[in-house]
This record gives sequence, structure tokens and C-alpha cells, in this order.
Amino acid sequence: MSRRTFLSLSAIVIVGCRSQSDESGPTDVNNSTSPPTNAPSTATTPAPPTSDPVVTSEPTVDSVAPALAVDPFTLGVASGDPDGSSVVLWTRLTGELPADGIDVEWEVASAGGSVIGSGVERVGPSTGGALHVVVDLTEPVTFRFRAGGFDSPEGRTAPVGELESVRLATASCQHFETGFYAAHRDIAEWDPDLVVFLGDFIYEGAANPIGDGRVRSHDGPEPMDLAGYRDRYATYLADEHLQASRAACPWLVIWDDHEVENNYAGLVPQDAADAAGFAARRAMAYQAWWEHTPTRLPAPDPASDDYPIYRSIDVGDLLAISMLDGRQYRSDQVCDATLDVGPPCPGWDDPTRSMLGAEQEAWLADRFGSTTSRWNCVAQQTVMTDLRFAGTGGILNYDQWDGYVPARDRSLAGAPADLVVLTGDIHLAGVGLLGDPTGASPTGVEFVTASISSAGNVPADLQPVLAGYPNVVDAELTKRGYTRHTVTADTWTAEYRTVDDVTSADSPVSTWKTFVVDHGTATVTVQT
Ligand code: FE
Ligand code: CA
Repeated sequence: MSRRTFLSLSAIVIVGCRSQSDESGPTDVNNSTSPPTNAPSTATTPAPPTSDPVVTSEPTVDSVAPALAVDPFTLGVASGDPDGSSVVLWTRLTGELPADGIDVEWEVASAGGSVIGSGVERVGPSTGGALHVVVDLTEPVTFRFRAGGFDSPEGRTAPVGELESVRLATASCQHFETGFYAAHRDIAEWDPDLVVFLGDFIYEGAANPIGDGRVRSHDGPEPMDLAGYRDRYATYLADEHLQASRAACPWLVIWDDHEVENNYAGLVPQDAADAAGFAARRAMAYQAWWEHTPTRLPAPDPASDDYPIYRSIDVGDLLAISMLDGRQYRSDQVCDATLDVGPPCPGWDDPTRSMLGAEQEAWLADRFGSTTSRWNCVAQQTVMTDLRFAGTGGILNYDQWDGYVPARDRSLAGAPADLVVLTGDIHLAGVGLLGDPTGASPTGVEFVTASISSAGNVPADLQPVLAGYPNVVDAELTKRGYTRHTVTADTWTAEYRTVDDVTSADSPVSTWKTFVVDHGTATVTVQT
């Protein structure tokens, strides 16, 4: 046994692992600032060893688990919410599980293949079959699970400690019906340090027939309860390229609207007719999100009327990432108009309206006020660059930050000068400058990632209009894809990958353009 392997093994045995059920309160992965109110636990200060699970250096015997009739690992494996010394391993067992649960073994192995840690967790109907186990790590590993005589697929993961550079992929909006996941295949091939998923992991619409831009169909009606949302996640997670991407590295996951319902705001559904029962529906959607997400967060508390998921991780001193929730606490959109260049709808400038809610705004301000990181990044849902129509102040999209101008001003007031905002939602690739809409004195840079597979929702012929804004560096409205970010002390490089043909899972994926921010400049150059 090498000294390194021995040290890793010692760390695991001494510190142990922490099952999700041992955690209390939502989790701020990083502990450098005040967390959300329900005092998340941290992993940088390891929790004391618990009596379970058993942690040994060898796999535990198979006899602890009864045989299952069918493979329970159809949803694959994933990992997430890493910090400098630990990561969450995830799977969710499908099929009939014994009422009192079943023992699931987990096992991590070093790059050389030596098993350096393992344990057993009891998993049953009480968590919907979901397993989230926090494992302390000092090096990249492979991991897998075993239950009922079946082995899961293998995943790869690593902690994110002091790194000289970090490579992260941003992705969002993967409508199952409107495309295949060649982009996820390309993410897995890139083998990044992190995937940051910015929302719209599922879409809630009922199944549509194939054809008219749809290459495959959802299974069943629009989900309205827990069983419905679980089925929808199962449809998505059956995709081999999505499974490969989730197994390639740790993910940081936030949600947008479609994990519940299109354009919902707080407890206000899209259609007023759906208001009765929407709170219960939202709670079921949030529960299903937790069950299928590799996160350190605890399950939603049924006794609580909210579920805080905003949280942070720091990659050493290089990069501080703040992940926001722009759906659960937002005020309702003031109107539903789109691409309207006339004067804005009444109420647009009401300072009491919020995108993040007061507590999350204060948390973000505290992050900004106390950062010592070289780069600061906000991963969030909707476009933040000021795209109001010159002259009239017309708001083209009331669902974006333009529909919440006073809240945007408050949220960015204390932002550090090197801010980079990572955005999804709008199904186009774009690069924008924050601050003054003339683009003359930018205070930060926004990288909007294309959708993985969701169809464009801004007419492609508006490309020259959008690209003509002085604070828009560039935009591409017709292609699906994702973005590769490489962050070093001196530069932030964003390589936009686009899928040639989203109707083919085997489609080539190539680079549209690569943009570079030199640290401290808040300006963008195109790499040639
Ligand atoms: Fe979307
Ligand atoms: Ca969205």
C-alpha cells in the first residue's frame, strides 16, 4: 500500500462518512460566510464520526442484502457539492424496495484501482430510494454502489481543494423531446472538474407525439404529484449521455422554473386557475428534485413552507461560487408581455419586489462583502445583463432580471469588480457586460450558456438586434450546446460548444467561439 493510499484510507476511516439523514439544515458547502438561516452544516469542519454507516477498508459482505429481482441502478450514479476534502455520492434505487429498506454498499477506489474506502447505507421508501452519502476524500476516485446482487455503473469524482486552475462546464435546459444529448456526451469527454447545472433539468409538459421538432416523447401527463415528478426524472435519467455526464465529475445543481412549472414565481403558478394546490405541488416537485440531485442539502422539511437551496462552494482561494435560487422567493412578474419595446408595465420599478427574497439578498451581500477569492462567480438562472430597450426603457422579458430592476441594483451593489455571472434559461448563447447599459464601464461579465437540447425561444432573426446592443459582446441564437470555462489566476476563458445536429445523439460538437476575460478588467476579448 502506498503512503498516499494509506493516508487517504486513514482519513476515511478516521472521519467516516455522513449519510444525508445525519445532516441537519440546508447546507452551505463553504463555511466562510454566514449561511442561510437554517444553519447548514459544513464539510470543511468534519462532523464527528457517527455510529453508522460502518466504514471499513474492504467491501462489506454481500450477505447483508437480499437479492432484488431487477437492477435497481437504472438512474445511474452521480456526485456533487464537493469541497476541499469531501464530496457527496448519489444514486437512487428504482423498483420495489423492501418496506424496511435494503443495505446499499458504496465503495471508492483510487486512480490505481485500490479500494480506499467503503461503507453501507440503509436505503428504503422513506427517502424514495435516494442515497446521498458524504465521503471524505483527498484525491480523485472512482466510485460505485452495490445492492441486491447488482452493481451500479461506475462514477468518477474528486474534492476541489487548492487548484491552480479549474475547468467547469455550465449547462441548462435539456428538454427531452426537442433533442438528444450529444452535448452531455461532449461534457463527459472533456472530463471537467465540475459541472454547474443552471436549471431546467426536466420539463413538466405532457408527452407530445414525435415529429414537428420533437425527436422523442415524454412518458405520461404533466406531473402534478411526487409519483409524476419521479417518473419524469426517470425518463430523463434513462439517457446514456446524461448518465455519462453525471458520472464524470461532481455537479453543482440549482433549479429553474421547469423543475416545477413554466415561469412560476414563488407560490404563484403560471396560470391563476392552478393556484389551488400549487404549494403542495411545488413541495412534491422540490422533494423529487432532492431525490434525483447529488447535493449535500437535506431533503425538504415537510413542516417548512420553503426549501433553501442557495449555497456556495469555494475552490481554494481561486474561485468563490455562489449559487442562487431565482424562483422560489421571487415576486410575481408584473406582466406577461414579451419583446414589447413600449414603455414598461406599471409596477416594474416597485422597490419592494424581489428576485431572491430578502434573506437570500442579504446572504449574497455578505458573500460579496467578505470574499477573499481571486475570482467571484454567481451561478444563477435568468439573464442579468441590462437589455431594456433604449429610449422607452421597454422590458423585453419580464421573467429576467430586467423585470426586477430595483432588485438587480440591490443585488449587484456590493459585487466585487471581478464578478462573473453564469446564466442559463433563455436557450441561446450570449456574452454580456454588467452595469451601465452603454457598456462603457462594465462591472462584470455574464456568460449565458446555450440550452443542451431545448428549442430556441428567441426568434433567430433577432440575432443582429441583440448583438447590436453596446453591452452585448456576442450572441448565437440558433444552436444548442454548453460552455467550457477554464479559470486560472490571470484569465477566465469561456469556450462555447455547439451541437451540429441536436436531432442526433451522435452529432459532432464543435467550438463556436472562445471568449477571454483578463482578471481585473471586466472586459471580454474573442480568442482567435
Ligand atoms: Fe429552459
Ligand atoms: Ca427556464
